[in-house]
Amino acid sequence: MNQTVKILVIEDEKNILSFITSVLSSSHYQVIPASTGAQGLSLASSQCPDLILLDLGLPDIDGMEIIEKIREWSSLPILVISARALEEDKVQALDAGADDYITKPFGNSELLARIRTALRHSSRMQTDDGLADRPYRSKGLLIDFEKRIVSRDGKEIHLTQNEYKIVALLARNCGRVLTYDRLIEHIWGPYSENDNTILRVNMANIRRKIEPNPAEPIYIFTEVGVGYRMADED
Ligand code: CA
Repeated sequence: MNQTVKILVIEDEKNILSFITSVLSSSHYQVIPASTGAQGLSLASSQCPDLILLDLGLPDIDGMEIIEKIREWSSLPILVISARALEEDKVQALDAGADDYITKPFGNSELLARIRTALRHSSRMQTDDGLADRPYRSKGLLIDFEKRIVSRDGKEIHLTQNEYKIVALLARNCGRVLTYDRLIEHIWGPYSENDNTILRVNMANIRRKIEPNPAEPIYIFTEVGVGYRMADED
């Protein structure tokens, strides 16, 4: 079923490129390798990939520029490969239009999970309207978007309006990271101050209400310096 899914991998480090290629090939994805930004950009337009895996640190073109160039003509999912220390790069890449990132070093199951999530979101955006509102379910947590009801193990959880908006947006994007700015803008509008404090307070309250143990979340994870990611559906 994956056989026709084409993934363009833009990565200059040979051992990482060959690791990714072998992982993806064994999961029946078709890999189009590129070792420079220029090559990547040209293959992105000529090969029509379904997803791009992009290393931000390339020898010829800055990864950020590649995201911006591709976003001029395409909304195909872009997964950024990033070094651990560079949180600002991750935020900048997401703001430039990347869908998500994966941090080096990563394992094959994490890589495949991120790819599946990105592909699922992009196909959902293209094809279904009604299905997007089916309830979110993960480890006993249920979010019914139509009725605006959140429950865990059958017990209803009372959230404030803003808490619900935060949880619903994260759940609709489950498996993907959402930046602090994106969440703040969605809840408090585009002219709100980019101050994470209110968001953090809301998140603390949400965790207290929905997580069995708020200190060790199983539903909403913190991506330090970047934002939050909701667990994938069951
Ligand atoms: Ca590199």
